Amino acid sequence: MSNHPAPLVVARDLVKAYGRTPALRGAGLELGAGEIVAVTGASGSGKSTLLHCLAGIVRPDAGSVTYAGERVDTLPEHRLSELRRTAFGVVFQFGQLVPELTALDNVALPLMLDGSARPAARERAAGWLERFGVGEQRGLRPGQLSGGQAQRVALARALVTGPRVLFADEPTGALDSLAGEQVMTALVRTARESGTAVLVVTHDAQVAAYADREVRLRDGALAGAGVAA
Ligand code: ADP
Repeated sequence: MSNHPAPLVVARDLVKAYGRTPALRGAGLELGAGEIVAVTGASGSGKSTLLHCLAGIVRPDAGSVTYAGERVDTLPEHRLSELRRTAFGVVFQFGQLVPELTALDNVALPLMLDGSARPAARERAAGWLERFGVGEQRGLRPGQLSGGQAQRVALARALVTGPRVLFADEPTGALDSLAGEQVMTALVRTARESGTAVLVVTHDAQVAAYADREVRLRDGALAGAGVAA
């Protein structure tokens, strides 16, 4: 980015413990509009907890998270779920598609929850499946898809509503390296086209290499930041 606009998502001094287990100990992060940032670090270093705090899924014990200048961590639950539905997309290691629904209806679902009529939602969903190279699989259920296909359907579902931020937690963690590359290539291309910012949590250096920047966690705090690509 040329003229340093205010970051879209800002986390400062985040502290979070699960009982006596500290997960975050002062971690912070900034994500610019359209920027792709990888969060890396050893297992247990707090990567997922950081992502969950930023996405408004987990409330930190201390510190702050803002989205477009608005505090996220203190929002009442109904406002938070609205924000998650409209501004954020999420994808996890295992796509967590609805097993009873076809690929097409999985992707149409968030649009219908937002009030779209089914035919319009399905038409838009079909376009997103095409963009991710799984258009031909539209009529299949998740159990009939390969892991890589399922993740591309999950990405289509996460992006179909046009979120400004995509939170991806080990999106290729369950895939072999070829399928992982296909998923990351599709993710990065689509995010660039739509100007969606991406925060991707990964323990895989190959995945981190797709990002503009890498942020490394150690024991729940920043270990240092550098340019990854
Ligand atoms: P990472 O994503 O880097 O593996 P996590 O954020 O998942 O790290 O975990 C950080 C620490 O918090 C670990 O010690 C983990 O065991 C602990 N932790 C994470 N989630 C929970 C939970 N829901 N309940 C209890 N402990 C948790």
